[in-house]
Amino acid sequence: MFFDDTIAAISTPIGKAAISVIRISGPDAAAVAGQVFKPLKCPLENLPPRYAAYGKFYAGGKIIDDGIAVLYRAPSSFTGQDMVELSCHGGMLVTQCILEQLLLAGARLAEPGEFTRRAYCLGKLDLSQAEAIALTLEAKNRAALAVGAAQREGILSGKIKDIFDEITDIVASVYVYFDFPDEDLSDVGPDELKSRLLDISDKLHALLASYTTGRAVTEGIPTTICGKPNSGKSSLLNRLLGTERAIVTDIAGTTRDTIEETAVVGNVTLRLCDTAGIRETDDAVEKIGISRAISAAQSAELILAVFDGSVPLDGDDEKILTLVSEWSAAGKKIIAVINKADLPQKLTEGDVTSRADFDAALRVSAALGDGFDKLADIISSLYIDGSLDFGSDAILTGARQYSAVEGALHRIESAIAALEEGMTADIVGLDLEEALKKLGELDGRSVSEEVVDSIFRNFCVGK
Ligand code: GDP
Repeated sequence: MFFDDTIAAISTPIGKAAISVIRISGPDAAAVAGQVFKPLKCPLENLPPRYAAYGKFYAGGKIIDDGIAVLYRAPSSFTGQDMVELSCHGGMLVTQCILEQLLLAGARLAEPGEFTRRAYCLGKLDLSQAEAIALTLEAKNRAALAVGAAQREGILSGKIKDIFDEITDIVASVYVYFDFPDEDLSDVGPDELKSRLLDISDKLHALLASYTTGRAVTEGIPTTICGKPNSGKSSLLNRLLGTERAIVTDIAGTTRDTIEETAVVGNVTLRLCDTAGIRETDDAVEKIGISRAISAAQSAELILAVFDGSVPLDGDDEKILTLVSEWSAAGKKIIAVINKADLPQKLTEGDVTSRADFDAALRVSAALGDGFDKLADIISSLYIDGSLDFGSDAILTGARQYSAVEGALHRIESAIAALEEGMTADIVGLDLEEALKKLGELDGRSVSEEVVDSIFRNFCVGK
């Protein structure tokens, strides 16, 4: 890709706002923008780079707005190309008119993520840094912001590069050792090679382990709430959503549309699946919703099983407890939430936890909000590795990154096994080279065009 055309797009949300920002990138950025925006003091092309210049926007020879232009010269810009950022008043029509003028002046409308894609292709950032921009845009809690910033600063890329360099070094040693075993050309024998590979495998294991935390703070944990009618599921849900701003997203399911709501509990994002049914419980014919609980739990990883602490266990609770045993055997994490702690209690924690395998149990009052800090602590302890520093440790945040590291680890382990079995250099070397290829997917050194497409497709226009 040569990127020899000039693109433009509105980079701020469409709607009424104080200002809108329109970005232009490409070899003709200054010339194109200069036809639409006239700074007071000199033509736009003659502006000193990175200087905010006041001026007027024109359409058909008439002033339609006034605002600010900043000119950036390649390679010192976000994309690495010549760029102009125009700030106009944030009306929908005025912003749209200015964009139209830019298109008439020779720019092409940018595709989603095309500015960031240009930055990536022109070496301004690597793939994990591009993904970190998306992390920052999507961040729902402070930890996600810190991880996004660290990843943009290159902490993850740096860690991957160190491991990459170490493997490259080992590949060289492998060939030297195996090709000239008697000539003592290197100080590395199989034991030394193995210990260096074990060290790399430890580092990759640690990176993989960081994904549990990274995923919990960014993408979030698919979660569901179950329990018999009137146990307080919907009160719990409202409490979880009410503590922070609720974000409701429609998700096109395979068989029907489900609603997913996002709750931020401490630094963990809970993606509450299938909560629509919970809210409808009062009107629903099938009030217990056991079958609904089963289907919701299928896609969930964390289950909040709600029990009414003010009444003894009954047959409906028993059904839930039987399901809990199945879910826990299937590897799901389950927290027993004994609700209505404000009423006289007829249920002990032991009554519930002795009947099935829970990861934790606690009492709350969804009505009063008691116990929710403890619930947040419990959820954190299940998903957040407290020894990780969000701002300075390399943390994996996406399935794509995880699979690249997992693939590399697999090859490193295979190289260790090959060494132990006394295999030849080409076999060990091949494994290591494949491990390098896998790691290269993470920062984009070795990645297919389809993968790059899929990453940038998820960006919005103007980003
Ligand atoms: P669901 O059917 O499981 O969704 O239960 P709801 O959330 O609709 O609650 C059922 C009833 O229990 C409602 O009257 C709630 O006001 C009440 N309730 C829920 N949580 C509490 C609680 O913590 N304490 C008390 N005293 N009542 C609660």
